[in-house]
Amino acid sequence: MTQTNYDVVIVGGAAVGSAIAYFLTHDLGFGGTIAVIERDPSYTHASTTLSAASIRQQFSTPENIRMSTFGVTFIKGLRERFGADADIGFREGGYLLLASEAGAVIAYENHDVQIKEKADIALLRPEEITQRFPWLNTDGVVLGTFGRTGEGWFDSHALLTLLRQAARARGAHYVHDEVTALSRTGERMTGVTLRSGQSIGCGTLVIAAGPQAGDVAAMAGVALPVEPRKRCVFVVNCRTPLPRMPLIVDTSGVWIRPEGQTFICGISPEAANDPRADGDFTLDESIFHDVVWPALAERIPAMEAIKLMRGWAGHYDYNTLDQNSVIGPHPQIGDLLFANGFSGHGLQQAPATGRAIAELITH
Ligand SMILES: Cc1cc2nc3c(=O)[nH]c(=O)nc-3n(C[C@H](O)[C@H](O)[C@H](O)COP(=O)(O)OP(=O)(O)OC[C@H]3O[C@@H](n4cnc5c(N)ncnc54)[C@H](O)[C@@H]3O)c2cc1C
Repeated sequence: MTQTNYDVVIVGGAAVGSAIAYFLTHDLGFGGTIAVIERDPSYTHASTTLSAASIRQQFSTPENIRMSTFGVTFIKGLRERFGADADIGFREGGYLLLASEAGAVIAYENHDVQIKEKADIALLRPEEITQRFPWLNTDGVVLGTFGRTGEGWFDSHALLTLLRQAARARGAHYVHDEVTALSRTGERMTGVTLRSGQSIGCGTLVIAAGPQAGDVAAMAGVALPVEPRKRCVFVVNCRTPLPRMPLIVDTSGVWIRPEGQTFICGISPEAANDPRADGDFTLDESIFHDVVWPALAERIPAMEAIKLMRGWAGHYDYNTLDQNSVIGPHPQIGDLLFANGFSGHGLQQAPATGRAIAELITH
């Protein structure tokens, strides 16, 4: 039987919601009660489990770099936090971002910001790229930026499981239900109504509903510019070995990285062809055949002969304003907190977000 009042109610219990619950339950200053309301404990359609699960330092703003740096520190320190068996399969393979003449100025500017933040990112000339990655064709590339440390990929489900289990072990209550309404009295959030008909009162309400964050905020009469946008991920195999392959972002925008014995790849659509994607999880194979494969075959000649094995589509928690996160309290409704709109980098920023929201609530 679920109790009817909690100090903190978190809507959404995937990576971000569970990271908030984890940091709250592990903050010595927090002695309150927590309910995490999650409509799908198998996380079939969550961004978290459909993610490409990669982490980088190569951003253009100090805030994003710092949040992801915290993410990497968190991942490297998993055993101290979660015990000797904790493992999320982190591979520190780096990101290699390739810039054409048109993109070079921005690449240099971003690199300056990254270096000021002490990120370990090297500028590589085309001949240095060839030296490190001889299987890569540098035609049209004027420079590359490569993360020597602090960048790579991991198992998102394993990270989610660690956070969730640790939060539950310290008393966070996960409720399998869907939030269908929020109650608000003026500038105070008072609770949530669930699909089962139950009502739960709250002191603080946190929206961690990923792509549905805008819909949940609307239940409180609040406009939040976050909505689901579809992204397809393709799994391919390639018989030719490609030693020390990092996550590569090509000048075309196509990205690819190793995943065990295979590779995953994709591209974000043009803004004009990127509608809200409610309920649409169909894989658009034409994107692979028309856009992704030709670009890969050009950049990595061995990939002329790749085979599409399978793929999936997931939803970005897309902030239509600036594709970056919205974190912290509503300016008028102080007990309504947002942890939303990461637009493709929310998994790596879940630990930093969890800590930030927990500290805002507690301290
Ligand atoms: C294809 C793809 C590739 C990506 N690649 C990367 C990457 O390489 N690196 C990276 O850092 N990030 C990446 N991301 C983004 C990242 O996955 C997300 O930003 C992050 O997982 C967001 O976590 P979340 O917990 O906020 O959202 P989700 O994981 O979507 O969780 C939200 C949860 O809220 C629940 N929920 C929603 N509405 C309700 C409701 N009304 N009541 C109860 N529960 C509700 C949902 O069931 C869901 O479980 C990628 C995303 C996609 C789709």
